[in-house]
Amino acid sequence: MKSIKNIGYVTECQICQNKNLKPILSLGHQPVVQEYLTKEGLHQPEATYPLNLVYCDKCGLTQIDYIVPPEIVFPPNYPYRTGLTNMLIRNFRALADMLEKQGYATPKSLIVDIGSNDGTLLQGFKDKGMKVVGVEPTGAADAARKNGIPTIKSFFDKETVAAILKKYGQAKIITATNVFAHINDTVSLANNIKNLLAQDGVFVSESQYLMDIFEKLEFDTVYHEHLRFYALRPLRRLFARVGLSIVDAERISAAGGSIRVYAMKGRRQMSARAKNLMDAEEKAGLYDVEAHKKFADSIILAKHDLVALLLRAKKQGARIAGLGSPARANTLLGFTKITSDILDYACEKSGSPKIGMFTPGTHIPVVDEDKLLKDQPEYVLVLSWHIGTELIKKTKEAGYKGKFIMPLPVVRIIK
Ligand SMILES: [Zn+2]
Repeated sequence: MKSIKNIGYVTECQICQNKNLKPILSLGHQPVVQEYLTKEGLHQPEATYPLNLVYCDKCGLTQIDYIVPPEIVFPPNYPYRTGLTNMLIRNFRALADMLEKQGYATPKSLIVDIGSNDGTLLQGFKDKGMKVVGVEPTGAADAARKNGIPTIKSFFDKETVAAILKKYGQAKIITATNVFAHINDTVSLANNIKNLLAQDGVFVSESQYLMDIFEKLEFDTVYHEHLRFYALRPLRRLFARVGLSIVDAERISAAGGSIRVYAMKGRRQMSARAKNLMDAEEKAGLYDVEAHKKFADSIILAKHDLVALLLRAKKQGARIAGLGSPARANTLLGFTKITSDILDYACEKSGSPKIGMFTPGTHIPVVDEDKLLKDQPEYVLVLSWHIGTELIKKTKEAGYKGKFIMPLPVVRIIK
């Protein structure tokens, strides 16, 4: 794989190149969250990388300050499969319906999905008779092709864009769901998107929203896949650099709270709801260094409260298991140092490729959720707390009788 620039310690803002970045929160050195270990792997050294949140007070971008090479963060055996998450499937179907209704796409329009994973999003457009192309560097590309979704197995770079333009022409819709903050070299990325987009085309991105991260203390979304935490002001600046304008934006519930942003070529008006969101961002302190520092202090307090509660339960002889083992939980576990002496295991739905493996850094065994129902430990720590309500309901229905510990934004026990 060819080398990609700007790897390692980030010394300047990823959008505006300001060199004076403000440190906000240090989460320690952490392994790559998807790097689950085999039993044999437990006997080998494990790579970790700095994980720090920093803030640029020139353009307002919150970002991490160390970029791990993408071939390590997204290895060919990358385990995440969109098709496994029902909520995402529903979200993607709704997105395809809506873009069709708004007139952005008609039959025969070309739709390109960046980071298309197993093709779940594109399936919705394909079912409507549109031309679709996915771009996906990991093994998920093979799953997509098997499902009949044309997919280029590569990173989204200049060469990939040239290949799509040559074979298919410009795209009417380009989507990037939960991936637009993942790709390095931000300005080139925005430029590549612009070059692929038709004059009347729309680029739709869905990214975790800094507002939600602030409101719900979702520091567990900070890991090496997420290089930037978007809000509208820095995004507008990034787009302006390459000749794109934000035309609309809305909050959506995906991934614990995301922002869906619509951008088009040329200078265009922003919708009223996007303007309102920008005002709300300002009021919430997203562009205020002091508010960022308060946010960091609250996270450290939340960590202490969670660990104290778990240790109290352990001292009373309770057994505690993890409910779910999402990638993001590995930041929570790594930062709080909750390891296998506190959590006996973490359980995943049958069929999850993580079953039989161990969490990176904290080495908690991942098991089939059947074990939870058989063992009935006194507590489960809801590691997928961002979908906690749905998950707790399902777990109760499946027959679990113990108590649920919600780790964030404030640790609490639910019976
Ligand atoms: Zn900046």
